[in-house]
Amino acid sequence: MKFLLPLLLSFLTFNAFSQTNYPAPGNLKRHIDYLAADQMKGRGTGSRQNSKAAKYVARQFKNYQLEPKGTKGYFQAFTSRVRRVVVADSLRETCNVLGFLDNGAEYTIVIGAHFDHLGMGRQGSSKAENPEGQIHNGADDNASGVAGLLELTRYFTENGTKEPYNFLFIAFGAEELGLQGSRYFVNNPTVPLDRIDFMTNMDMIGRYNPDRGVGIGGYGTSASWPGIFEGVTSEVKFFTDRAGSGGSDHGSFYAKEIPVLFFHTGGHDDYHKPTDDADKVDAEAEAAILKIEIDLIENAMKLPKLEFQEVK
Ligand SMILES: [Zn+2]
Repeated sequence: MKFLLPLLLSFLTFNAFSQTNYPAPGNLKRHIDYLAADQMKGRGTGSRQNSKAAKYVARQFKNYQLEPKGTKGYFQAFTSRVRRVVVADSLRETCNVLGFLDNGAEYTIVIGAHFDHLGMGRQGSSKAENPEGQIHNGADDNASGVAGLLELTRYFTENGTKEPYNFLFIAFGAEELGLQGSRYFVNNPTVPLDRIDFMTNMDMIGRYNPDRGVGIGGYGTSASWPGIFEGVTSEVKFFTDRAGSGGSDHGSFYAKEIPVLFFHTGGHDDYHKPTDDADKVDAEAEAAILKIEIDLIENAMKLPKLEFQEVK
């Protein structure tokens, strides 16, 4: 009986997982509350809180037993430059955070989201009237995307399935300074770029607006996407957009001729302002958006490596 109980428990847990391990609003909210708290000071590039956010992601990757895929453990350090405003400390040390789920496959799917935001409003691109010294919490932009990244990590590591593709999960640094982390990665890849099947990016997926729906960009970056979208349904409304670049880190992958998808719930009054707070995020809708992303990834995995197509 002593050894039967753990056996029984693991059997029950395994079956529970296969039913219930989809992204959960409670987990999303927990990650967002942590990353967008005032103590995190807006995760500005080069700040102590920025590196604290990176370490938070690395800790989760370790919990899910991802293989470190940075240059120093999970971290890939790089120097970024503030370009939009004149500041004394224009060169800032930061990093990408990379975890790998090795399924022994030939090709790898990249899932990404940037973890940095505007800090205390001294690095440019704030829309506040007097941004300097104000905490730009960045709950939607992009604690929501990082929470999505972590819940997809949990899903793919705990779903009890060995997929026909590997997964590389990346939290990018310095996106707000001009996609610097993702560009650094594609120029210094830790997985060969020609082994990447496609890349999905989440940037601002926390403010679902039922009038607009969630936008899914990159639809034109492979001739296979229309077939992959076929039959995918959701309780949230979504629409596609052909563009492969524009606005976020997927653009760095598109520039290297890698098919992409980009999830985005759209602009709002708190965009790049100190009022982009955690309590305004719709975690229920975000979980439903992540389910769409999972359905698309799972459909795409039924196909061989996707062919890139330039968006005209
Ligand atoms: Zn963003």
